[in-house]
Amino acid sequence: MIIPPASRFPPRLVLSVSAAPDRPLVPEWLGVPSDANDLVAAVWPPSAGRDDAGVLQVAGVSVAELRERFGTPLYVLDEDEVRARARRVRAAFEDATARHGIQARVYYAGKAFLSTEVVRWVTEEGLAVDVATGGELAVALAGGAEPPRIGVHGNNKSVAELERAVQLGVGSIVIDSLTEVERLAAIAERLGRTGETAQNVLIRVNTGVHAETHDFLATAHEDQKFGFALADAPAVVARIRELPSLHLVGVHCHIGSQIFGTAGFAESAARLVDLYADLRQGGEIAVLNLGGGFGIAYTSADTPTPIEELADGIVDAVARECEARGVPLPNLAFEPGRSIVGRAGVTLYEVGTVKPVRVADDLTRLYVSVDGGMSDNARPALYGAQYSARIASRVSDAEPALARVVGRHCESGDIVVDAEYLPGDVTEGDLVAVPATGAYCFSLASNYNYVPRPPVVAVSSGAARVIVRGETIDDLLARDAGIAASARPQEEM
Ligand SMILES: *Cc1c(COP(=O)(O)O)cnc(C)c1O
Repeated sequence: MIIPPASRFPPRLVLSVSAAPDRPLVPEWLGVPSDANDLVAAVWPPSAGRDDAGVLQVAGVSVAELRERFGTPLYVLDEDEVRARARRVRAAFEDATARHGIQARVYYAGKAFLSTEVVRWVTEEGLAVDVATGGELAVALAGGAEPPRIGVHGNNKSVAELERAVQLGVGSIVIDSLTEVERLAAIAERLGRTGETAQNVLIRVNTGVHAETHDFLATAHEDQKFGFALADAPAVVARIRELPSLHLVGVHCHIGSQIFGTAGFAESAARLVDLYADLRQGGEIAVLNLGGGFGIAYTSADTPTPIEELADGIVDAVARECEARGVPLPNLAFEPGRSIVGRAGVTLYEVGTVKPVRVADDLTRLYVSVDGGMSDNARPALYGAQYSARIASRVSDAEPALARVVGRHCESGDIVVDAEYLPGDVTEGDLVAVPATGAYCFSLASNYNYVPRPPVVAVSSGAARVIVRGETIDDLLARDAGIAASARPQEEM
């Protein structure tokens, strides 16, 4: 068992990590670029490039056109990149499992970015869809996902959400508590789903492996809300097997997000297979669902493991553990989110102000304020996530300057890009583009400070179209009951 230093857990809320020795304001991983206009290949969508005038384009659409037509801030999503990643990730897991004579089902984890258009893209590319709330379920259905290919997650699904899911005939529901075993069984029974038509369920277990980026932590008792402890799982499964309205198809675990390397998955798989071998003695366990969490590159410092390598490593680890225990390999399921949509997204902002801030006598940091911020990208404020940025509307040969791209909200932690070298002449009116914003930006967006949420525009083959419209001030006012009441005619009040 690998136990890295305790300081890794929980590792959040570290904004500037260790500084480079000779550059006190600069994180160690950030080098001075030879060209601060350069697009680091792994971070941008493959279709991104600059035209002859130096203007950034994505999928053949120039950011000048995007600004003109849709304004800023703007979420831009490269449709072909989402589709290509969906195909590639699916193929990686299908190939890896086929080599062992078993099957893989790949669910797109909708919480990373969900809209009907994206549901259409990923389902057309052969992925099933995971949802975690009634709202996500509604979007998945509206996007044409077939109920048998929908998985339902959540640690506190309401009775109404469970009823809807059972009525629809969703493929599987992942049970997270004993309360939910009884709640779901009663609902399924009431809806006549017993015997042959029993609701398919998995139980979520907590393997005690918590992985984040480069390291993982393995404990016997993990102090968090999801899933059942491994030791408790047999009793839960025994109870489910007594209930005629539930049919146990498998066991689920998800060890974290933005994970590099296979070591955490392998450790978790070993623990899961132990449980699987035990549970098999009382009945069939058809599927092990190993969750998602496959990392992507946000900055030049990130070197994610290619998905094929991860898929092979994880599937081989499960196969090895099964062989060691003399049990047959079950089918496997996976739930990638970020690794499908993350790199397909670019956020465009307009620079409003540039302010050199003297941090010490001889140390200056350039604060570049843009017209969005933590309302369209909560990740830096939420967990110290690092991003990169470029001036998108032009190239410049000015000396690179250390910049911090910040938003327009009333919080000093309203940071979009903590540390980046931008051309030192960055100025008001420039467009700044932040890559790798396809996952967990739109889906975590808020109306903090009553800032309307930006539209999402899909780009493909030189064409752009709105797939989620932006909010207006009227949208924001529409929910305010005080305004609605005072606007009503007197006699109705
Ligand atoms: C968030 C989540 C995922 C997707 O995680 P990514 O890091 O986006 O791949 C998959 N499964 C479960 C249960 C999750 O909560």
